Amino acid sequence: MKVSENLEVIQKQIADACEKAGRSPEEVKIIAVTKYVSPERAQEAIESGVIHLGENRDEGLLDKISKLKDKPVWHFIGTLQTRKVKNIIEHVTYIHSLDRLSLAKEIDKRASSKVNCLVQINASGEESKHGLEPHQVIDFVRELKQYPYIEVSGLMTMAPYTEDEQVIRDCFRTLKQLQREIQALNLEFAPCNELSMGMSNDFKIAVEEGSTMVRIGTALVGNESEVQ
Ligand SMILES: *Cc1c(COP(=O)(O)O)cnc(C)c1O
Repeated sequence: MKVSENLEVIQKQIADACEKAGRSPEEVKIIAVTKYVSPERAQEAIESGVIHLGENRDEGLLDKISKLKDKPVWHFIGTLQTRKVKNIIEHVTYIHSLDRLSLAKEIDKRASSKVNCLVQINASGEESKHGLEPHQVIDFVRELKQYPYIEVSGLMTMAPYTEDEQVIRDCFRTLKQLQREIQALNLEFAPCNELSMGMSNDFKIAVEEGSTMVRIGTALVGNESEVQ
């Protein structure tokens, strides 16, 4: 499938979910997750009109950057090792995986201007998942005040892989509720306008629950085996 065809289907699904929820589709940014695919396929995504691209490893990010003709807005969506911060910091506009103070400290140290960070939350309680537990989030956000280059742009989560739609929905609602709590604090460094939630299998639910950034790989650009 061409990316443009997939994109059209996804945009329609987002529009439908927005209508159901009384939201405007303009509130939802589509991030094409290109980690499984070639630079050529990522370039095709850009040419189809995708502005935001996401990668989860520094090697993948730097490889794409060196080979793409255009400059998308880059999102780093994967677990970020502290020692890798210096490799990516100048290239990405958003970091979706802030989950510990040591990482905030390193981002702050390496940055030359404010960095848009999303606090990653393990809303499902699954042990395999990265991120803060919901009850830790407010204190964590308050602590970030000490790092002038950290802007808390929003929150990010990954829902569990399950057929149980209610479990997925509850994760997204947990994030929305935490966003309300953080915004009520009126912290200058934490506008927290973004909710990064929803992947290929659950983005419709995420949009119904308030997502502003859906991270879509398989359904948009495919994975390598489908592309070849
Ligand atoms: C890979 C990945 C995605 C995209 O997954 P798909 O199911 O292919 O849409 C989204 N978010 C994160 C954090 C990822 O690692």
